[in-house]
Amino acid sequence: MKTTCGSEMLAQYEPPFDATVVERVSAAGGEIVGKTNMDEFGMGTTTETSAFGPTKNPVDPERVPGGSSGGSAAAVAAGEAELALGSDTGGSVRCPAAFCGVVGIKPTYGLVSRYGLIAYANSLEQIGPMAGSVEEAATLLSVIAGPDERDATTRLDTGTATETHPGTEPDYAAAADGDVSEMTIGIPEQLFDGADEDVVATVETAIAELKSQGAQTQPVSLPSLEYAVEAYYVIAMSEASSNLARFDGVRYGHRSDSEGDWNESFAQTRSEGFGSEVKRRILLGTYALSAGYQDAYYGRAQDARAWVKRDFDDAFDSVDVVASPTMPVKPFRLGESLDDPLKMYLADANTTPANLANLPAISVPAGTTDGLPVGIQFVGPKFGESAIIRAASAVEM
Ligand code: GLN
Repeated sequence: MKTTCGSEMLAQYEPPFDATVVERVSAAGGEIVGKTNMDEFGMGTTTETSAFGPTKNPVDPERVPGGSSGGSAAAVAAGEAELALGSDTGGSVRCPAAFCGVVGIKPTYGLVSRYGLIAYANSLEQIGPMAGSVEEAATLLSVIAGPDERDATTRLDTGTATETHPGTEPDYAAAADGDVSEMTIGIPEQLFDGADEDVVATVETAIAELKSQGAQTQPVSLPSLEYAVEAYYVIAMSEASSNLARFDGVRYGHRSDSEGDWNESFAQTRSEGFGSEVKRRILLGTYALSAGYQDAYYGRAQDARAWVKRDFDDAFDSVDVVASPTMPVKPFRLGESLDDPLKMYLADANTTPANLANLPAISVPAGTTDGLPVGIQFVGPKFGESAIIRAASAVEM
């Protein structure tokens, strides 16, 4: 089966092996019914940058399904698949889940093998499950989680050689018990401030419902988050400029029929194979990493990333999970954000912090406004998947 990453570059590419997650789903009895549309190489928030055209939101076909894994969320929302996988570099599982009214989980970095995942920004991304309910998404997470000898990042921070990886034989579905009576939920004003009023109102209603079920809430301050989306885009584009260098017309995918030397053929192949969003990011990422500018951009983004991690660590000293709107806005109309990349980038303000800090996060439907789905996000401490699954399952009660 072809793997295209939504790109003309890989329009005819058939991978020679299965990703670890696909092997695990098959071994558990799952049937792979298809591969879904996505923003080209995961670069987008709407599934409109796909070379194969946009995916529509099943809830309202005039709107985008979110992105970049919009095809997966749309397939689940439309009932074409019971479960789906996406990849989340800066929100690409949670954003489409929120926009389509389904559940999506971005696991802790290192919980799920990335072997076979085509890299966009490898220090940020994880493969995650989507489903119609928290319990089903948690079940799929249990299937795909765990160490993989072909991906060294799945052995991160596990201490001694005998200590087991947190994803070894987990039962995440058991955490979907809806019991938040012992739970303290942190509320970061920074992630509510810039969001649309009706989105905030829907999320606040869901939080009030959790309080009535016995949860405590507590304000938390995460001042670094003001810089998260900027830091994310510098890091993601820098890594992308390096990761996408492999698409050179020699090793993978599209090759131009240019008659010139290697440099001309390389340039021609990439001019033809990549769409404009991907080109923009390769150019910006290359610039950010260039000798004269590395300290000014990449170095400072890494500092901000460390600060985001520290802010979350401090918050988790006093709360179990942090809650916010998943997306600060309702699903865009098709075409609305395409001419304005900055507007699209800013929509990732609430999802990118969990990727920068390598933390687990979930989006679960909180309700609707104007008939459009609104997602509430819970971020947990490292390998705290059970806590976010428990909190999200209570929203469904
Ligand atoms: N919208 C973000 C981006 O374009 C996130 C994408 C993703 O998670 N793959 O980078």
